Amino acid sequence: MIDAIEISLNPGAILYREGDAHDTAFIIEDGEVVLYSNSDGDMARVDCERRGPGSILGELSILTGQPRTVTVEALTPCKLYKIPAAKILHQFHDLDPILRACIETSISFSARLHAGHNSESKKAPLAQSTLRNSHDIISRIKFEKDILRGLERGEFSMCYQPIVSLSNGQIVGAEALMRWDHPNQGRISPDRFITVAEEMGSISLLTDFALSEACATLHAAQQTSDATQDLFMSVNVSGQDIGRTDFVDHLEHLLDLHALVPSHLKLEVTETALVPSGDTSERILERIREFGCGISIDDFGTGYSNLAYLKSLPLTALKIDRAFAGDAYANAVSKGIVRMLVGLGSELGVDIIAEGLETENDVQTLTELGCRYAQGFHFYKPLTKNVFLNELNGDQRSVTHVA
Ligand code: C2E
Ligand code: CA
Ligand code: CA
Repeated sequence: MIDAIEISLNPGAILYREGDAHDTAFIIEDGEVVLYSNSDGDMARVDCERRGPGSILGELSILTGQPRTVTVEALTPCKLYKIPAAKILHQFHDLDPILRACIETSISFSARLHAGHNSESKKAPLAQSTLRNSHDIISRIKFEKDILRGLERGEFSMCYQPIVSLSNGQIVGAEALMRWDHPNQGRISPDRFITVAEEMGSISLLTDFALSEACATLHAAQQTSDATQDLFMSVNVSGQDIGRTDFVDHLEHLLDLHALVPSHLKLEVTETALVPSGDTSERILERIREFGCGISIDDFGTGYSNLAYLKSLPLTALKIDRAFAGDAYANAVSKGIVRMLVGLGSELGVDIIAEGLETENDVQTLTELGCRYAQGFHFYKPLTKNVFLNELNGDQRSVTHVA
């Protein structure tokens, strides 16, 4: 998580001084600063460089662990974002755009600093923006701040899309889906905010929210009648969550808190989130399975499809993506792919859940292909918690209460 803090400087204000030991970098959003050094013997000031919007400052002492090598002074009114060292060092190996810019800046700036000391010229040149896509990065930083603020202010909620048995149409479980109702922008698509939260490293906060809400709802759902005691809840998690060393402990704590049996919680992970994962993630998946939670591969068929790798994973279900399952009736190629995926599922000994069934024809096709479970607008749209619980109670049978 960047957790960026916005700061403002007036002209003449010092951002930091040469020799200071700080652990923060900065991105300039607006304004111009000058970087100068006093360290060449007689303490005369040498202006090294001016920096403007999109430039990174202060990254060198983070990457080298050394004190600041220059003093930075605002030349005009400036707006900057503080980037904590932890963010930069934590993602050192991921080479995200900010880190790449840090490294490029450090290398070129060190070279220029050195040259500057020997140069006659006292006029600092204006460096080019070091973040090529600074506008995009700054808007993502702002969007992430908005997400975190929204989470604190209760703008996020979960809705539940029932998963049904194709043999009798009964609800066997549900997928928890996140909703964000922004006070000014209205509803923002999860595809958008989940992507940004993953890129910026704050997805774990959203996942924790989803897990905690979904467990509370599952507990309530299982209490509604004898028939709902075996209901399961599927929660989407990202590759980053699977990489968290405390993830299984966290699940254990949540399930205890809500008096739930581990097998009633299933985690949905996409193929793409799993395939590049390292040893840690695989070990954590094993621990999740040993602990008893289910693991479903989401959007199956759209990702990397390294079958040898998938075979080695401790899976319990494959969810066939809407692009194939919802298209199998009308499209022979999609139908062939679904047939193959259902066969693969049975070879692997895992459940198959078809996603995105919208019509009676879709349902018939998938049933004929041997699929046992499904989810889609034909059965239910995502429902608010209360409507979902009422639906289980048999109070109503309507798909109009969309969350
Ligand atoms: P997904 O996991 O593939 O979720 C299924 C998406 O398909 C949901 O969109 C659902 O509303 C939609 N859907 C279900 N049945 C049908 C159908 O019959 N037709 C059509 N056209 N669409 C159908 P939604 O809720 O907008 O979520 C989009 C994606 O956002 C999800 O795709 C998932 O990748 C992500 N997401 C949502 N909630 C969470 C969350 O709590 N955590 C994480 N990590 N990701 C989430
Ligand atoms: Ca999903
Ligand atoms: Ca899916």
